[in-house]
This record gives sequence, structure tokens and C-alpha cells, in this order.
Amino acid sequence: ILQISAPLQFLGFLYRDLRQSLLDLDFLFNILITRPSVKDGHIELQKVGPGMKIQAENLHFRYRSSRKILNGVSLTANPGESIAIVGPSGCGKSTIVKLLLRFYYPELGTLFLDNIDLQLLSQASLHGAIAIVPQDTVLFNDTIYHNITYSRPTACKTEIIQAAKQAQLHDAVMQMPRGYNTIVGERGLKLSGGEKQRVAIARAFLKAPRLLICDEATSALDSNTEVEVLKTLKDLSSGRTCIFVAHRLSTIMHCDKILVMDNGSIIEEGTHKDLLSRGGTYANMWSSQELKEKREPLPK
Ligand code: ATP
Repeated sequence: ILQISAPLQFLGFLYRDLRQSLLDLDFLFNILITRPSVKDGHIELQKVGPGMKIQAENLHFRYRSSRKILNGVSLTANPGESIAIVGPSGCGKSTIVKLLLRFYYPELGTLFLDNIDLQLLSQASLHGAIAIVPQDTVLFNDTIYHNITYSRPTACKTEIIQAAKQAQLHDAVMQMPRGYNTIVGERGLKLSGGEKQRVAIARAFLKAPRLLICDEATSALDSNTEVEVLKTLKDLSSGRTCIFVAHRLSTIMHCDKILVMDNGSIIEEGTHKDLLSRGGTYANMWSSQELKEKREPLPK
């Protein structure tokens, strides 16, 4: 029995690994099939530069269903400007980001980056110039080192440590059992929500993108962690064009421009101050959130 138990145990481990790999493959496959085929362009976007110019004109879009998701959205961001997109859940904020990333074509309307039609840009150069900090960062079952370097595999160790320091992640890594060689992710050490977001921020620092997109980057964090992570995001955003998609208005109130969306359209646009004095939807959203935060105040 002893002779047979070891191989059986080994087969058990093998089966578990195989099953996990199939699940990972299934996940990857699902991502691939949900991305409709978009033709690649031939113009290279500059990889370095002070931000990026974005011009979207009259975007209309629907997914496969017949329901219109974007209904004539226009927006402009100048190099180095930060814009915020706010509005109720499902109004189309992330869909604008997906069009910018060229996951889908608009049904109507144009999108220009640095005055070049998005459809003419090469996907590789587009994705090379943009970094995203999503709401829920995906960590691979690999070392923390490789999880950071994923955004620029050719980066050297000094650059990776520098990025982790800029993201305020380095000290936490030094506390981990094997430092940068600690396995994190699905089957490794579980990182806290704040640490995961710092990995995403370290990846973005390493990439040094011209356009930074933060899609609800801090909304899953508790208020203390949110304040800390926002500080590093502020450093990261300096000198770049940024798009922030957010629910909590106190996190985007300093943006150069705030776009308020409802049901696929931009209904208000301006600075925090402009929008407050207009006394419209944004002002109402602000006062109801302020009331809520008075009840649950943000830490100083
Ligand atoms: P939230 O604040 O909740 O993230 P949002 O404003 O970012 O919402 P989107 O994610 O842009 O909204 O979604 C807009 C609408 O499009 C929603 O009704 C959503 O259900 C639908 N939608 C999003 N992605 C897809 C998809 N891949 N296929 C079909 N419908 C989709």
C-alpha cells in the first residue's frame, strides 16, 4: 500500500494542476472570444512624450444586443490633462475606455489619439503607450518580481525595485517570506486589496505610459487604504494624460475636467467648481456623497 500511495498522491497533484491549467486556459479563451476581431493598423504611436491628445467625436456604440450604450459621446483631453468620467452604474463609462483601447469599433463617430485615427494605429504601439489600473488587479501565480515586470518584461532589477518603491510597495515586499521571489496570486501568498493595487501601480510606473487609465482603481479599498493608494496614483499621473473612471467624487474632484454621463450621453462637463456652481446632476451627486461621507468620514 505504501508503494502505491506515493504515485497515487503524485497523480492527485498532477490532476489538480492539470485542472487548474484548464481553468486558466478556459478563462483566457473566454477573454479571447469576447474580444471581437479588430483589424490592426500600421501607424506607430509615439511611446514617449508628455501625455497624449485624445479627441472623441460623436461616438455611438452598442454591444451585440440592440440596446444603444453610447449615444453621441464627444470628449477631448489635451496632453498632460486629467479627465474624470462619472455617472451611474451602467451608463457607459467603461465602454468609452474599451473603445479607446480599441477592443471594439464605434458604430459611428471618430476617435483620434495624437491626431491619428485610432483605426490606423498599431495595437502594439497603442497598448505600449497606455497603462491601466483596474478595479481588481489580476495577479499571476508567479513571483512578485515577475508580477511587476509583466508590464515591461525587459526591465532590469533596479528598475523593478524603483517602480515598487514609487508605488509604495517595496517595504511590504521586504516583509514577505522570500522578498521579490515570493510567489503571489492564485495559489501563492494572498496580497491585500491595497497591495494588489500597488502591484498594478508599480506595473504602470515601470511602463511609464503616456496615457494612464484608472477604472475604479480604488473603489474596492477601505477608506484608509484608498487615501494611501490615491497618493501614489497622484504621483503616477503627474505629466501624463489620465482618465479616471470613478464613483466616489472626492477621488476625482481635482481633475482638470469632469464629464458627467447618464444613459450613454455626457450631460455635464466642467471642473468640480464649475459643476458645483451649475447646481445640476453633479452638484446633487456631490451633496448626497458629502452627506454620506459626513456620516462615514474619510481619514485625514
Ligand atoms: P459601472 O459603473 O457599473 O462599471 P459603467 O458606466 O462603466 O458601469 P459599462 O461597463 O460601460 O458601464 O456598461 C454599459 C452597459 O453595457 C451596461 O448595461 C452593461 O451591462 C453593458 N455591457 C458592458 N459590457 C458588455 C458586453 N461585453 N456585452 C454586452 N453588454 C455589455
